[in-house]
Amino acid sequence: MDSTQMLLKDLTDVMGISGFEHDVARAIEKHMKPFAKISHDRLGSIICKKEGASAAPKIMLAAHMDEVGFIVKQITSEGYIRFLPVGGWWGHVVLGQRVIVKTRKGDVVGVVGSKPPHELEDAERKKVVDIKDMHIDVGATRKFDIEKKLGVKVGDAIVPSSPFEVMGNPKTYLAKAWDDRIGCAIMIDVVKRLAKLKHPNTLYAVGTVQEEVGLRGAQTSAAVVDPDVGFALEVSIAHDTPGFGTDEVEALGAGPALLVYDRTMIPNRKLLDLTLDVATKKKIPFHLASIAKGGTDTGRIHLNRAGVPSLVIGVPTRYIHSHMGIIHRSDYDNTVKLVTELVRVLDKKTVASL
Ligand SMILES: [Zn+2]
Repeated sequence: MDSTQMLLKDLTDVMGISGFEHDVARAIEKHMKPFAKISHDRLGSIICKKEGASAAPKIMLAAHMDEVGFIVKQITSEGYIRFLPVGGWWGHVVLGQRVIVKTRKGDVVGVVGSKPPHELEDAERKKVVDIKDMHIDVGATRKFDIEKKLGVKVGDAIVPSSPFEVMGNPKTYLAKAWDDRIGCAIMIDVVKRLAKLKHPNTLYAVGTVQEEVGLRGAQTSAAVVDPDVGFALEVSIAHDTPGFGTDEVEALGAGPALLVYDRTMIPNRKLLDLTLDVATKKKIPFHLASIAKGGTDTGRIHLNRAGVPSLVIGVPTRYIHSHMGIIHRSDYDNTVKLVTELVRVLDKKTVASL
């Protein structure tokens, strides 16, 4: 594995659903420490400050550290776990999956139990099972108390289990939690690159908490940073798989997506145009995209104080909010390049003109 693959493995394998991001913050801190000054907001977001040639303007890059997962709701008398979704899930991709329950005593492996097809009535077979009717099995038997023996208790985090892998097409990588560890990795690589280059501003690379449950860490960390410009580094949704239309431009290998619309923000047009110009000038491929049902951290950042010109930049990703997503290496490299070049042109005068 090369150093980028190692970084991506490091960040996607680490477990952290909303409200339980501490291990992710620790992983980011380890990579950022040699290049940036580290602090935190009071919700747990990590703020990595990289000084450039000027104290102003302040540029904020935000990537959320949390991934979608579940939480223990109840333990049945037979030792099965009933659970609540944390973030957006579709029942179809939950049944039969491997999970890790994070208990005070350690990690406990489990599986979301499903009925064998032999036992399904015709009507049952056709419908999606509701998550509230599912259970997790950590090896329950009548005489094994999972609370006493394994330390499982109500409120414990449950995380998808699915390790990083380079696929047969060696440019494609399979992992859980691309949403949004890909953004965390991009931030780290951008800060590393800027350690060797000049930039006319101060950069704040922020790993935010609790995005999947309502952009919460973006709000609190933006209050601390008080940025002049904001970017969310995110996944975008690849539409190049069966089931989407034929004229779709959102594909693996298409380069970074610049979001023209999401449910929580309309981007600053001048910032969008500036980004298009930088991409064109530096010959970085890109495409324009939108997300009709979903928001990003900029939804809160752009509303900080008197308002912050903001934009979302995404890496096309297949199958987000499931155990397994796929990205393309060239999209990752091109996004790192684009964000680095953008930070290098955001001086006082340019930012004042937005
Ligand atoms: Zn996300």
